[in-house]
Amino acid sequence: MSEESRSGGLARARALDAADPLARYRDQFHIPSGPDGGPCIYLCGNSLGLQPRATAARVQAELAAWARLGVEGHFAEGVGWFDYHERFRDSTAALVGALPGEVVVMNALTVNLHLLMVSFYRPSGRRRKVMIERGAFPSDRYAVASQASFHGLEPSEVVIEVGPRAGEDVLRTEDILAAIAAHGPELALVLFGGVNFYSGQVLEVGVITAAGHAQGAVVGFDLAHAAGNVRLSLHDDGVDFAAFCTYKYLNAGPGGVGCAFVHTRHGSSPELPRFAGWWGNAPATRFGMPEAFVPQSGAAGWQLSNAPILPMAALSASLDLFSEAGMEALCAKSAKLTGYMQELLDGIEGGLFEVITPASRGCQLSLRVVEGAAGLHQRLSAAGVVCDFRRPDVIRVAPVPLYNSFEDVWCFCDIIAGFAAEGV
Ligand SMILES: *Cc1c(COP(=O)(O)O)cnc(C)c1O
Repeated sequence: MSEESRSGGLARARALDAADPLARYRDQFHIPSGPDGGPCIYLCGNSLGLQPRATAARVQAELAAWARLGVEGHFAEGVGWFDYHERFRDSTAALVGALPGEVVVMNALTVNLHLLMVSFYRPSGRRRKVMIERGAFPSDRYAVASQASFHGLEPSEVVIEVGPRAGEDVLRTEDILAAIAAHGPELALVLFGGVNFYSGQVLEVGVITAAGHAQGAVVGFDLAHAAGNVRLSLHDDGVDFAAFCTYKYLNAGPGGVGCAFVHTRHGSSPELPRFAGWWGNAPATRFGMPEAFVPQSGAAGWQLSNAPILPMAALSASLDLFSEAGMEALCAKSAKLTGYMQELLDGIEGGLFEVITPASRGCQLSLRVVEGAAGLHQRLSAAGVVCDFRRPDVIRVAPVPLYNSFEDVWCFCDIIAGFAAEGV
């Protein structure tokens, strides 16, 4: 590419940033440094979101309260660790299109999947099968297979996987629906990712849920790559349950506390079997420690342990940014920013890679590298790009609307265009 067209491209990216109403949020994050000491091009918010500048003070405030108050912090005015999780009711519900009582912040993602499967995967009689996507995230596969074994079933007999057709990279909704119909009366649970972690494809949550329900199955979603990335309407879509983590798009920090969704039609039935712990007990009697467990209504009734205040304080800093910016505006920028990346990538000649992510996507693009994906990933790292490599041949990049700029996207594409021109 000529220097002239490069500088024109960079000028256009900067103009897009200047016109971006969300551009100011970038300054509210710590951007790690690249090899040249300047900010890196961070395209890995789908793995670990960046740290908001406000996070340290939030965590520090809870440490200070602990230092000042000790155990009194549970009920002290303005501290209130006893019902700390309730602070997240509205913000997390808005993120995933839930009613406030349908969501609770607790544990971690895989733990929550297990707890929810205890309630929602209850094989009986002919209805024993669980349907997942082929190539689902390993933790989800382990969780599902071990739940089947726990019920005395052979995972290879009851776990059904639906994948893309031969030669294709993404799942067709019609194939998912056909599989659900084909297994109908044997299907106990349908469990898909809202956004596939590998391809970045967004699945049709409402359509899949309706199809599962039409066959009498329970339908759950893993929203690890969907929460904070795409618009969701879990309540209206009638999804039975869902779980997600908060350290990817939600920037809560490594190992950040997870989140669970239970539809209100289940949340209010105390007879639904569950593994119980004292924090799921109704708050009025929680500290009285009654003989028998009386579940709090809503998703909060699935809590086990007292809340981990420090990681939850970290989460609050990021959720405030989401509440302020709003998912609608974030998704609008996401479409522009990711569309811009796709446009630039499409213009790169040399056949180095192809984008396998379909039009139905959030902010992740997955690049299938024709040859030497691992080497390309290393060269990108050396050039100051933080992105990830998934075996065998995919590099995933996620321009995140909260903190990535059009200039980031332009610089990344300029670097990869340079490699393509050199034939590496
Ligand atoms: C990131 C991710 C996980 C990670 O699970 P943790 O319990 O948070 O460690 C699980 N499933 C999917 C689909 C993921 O993307």
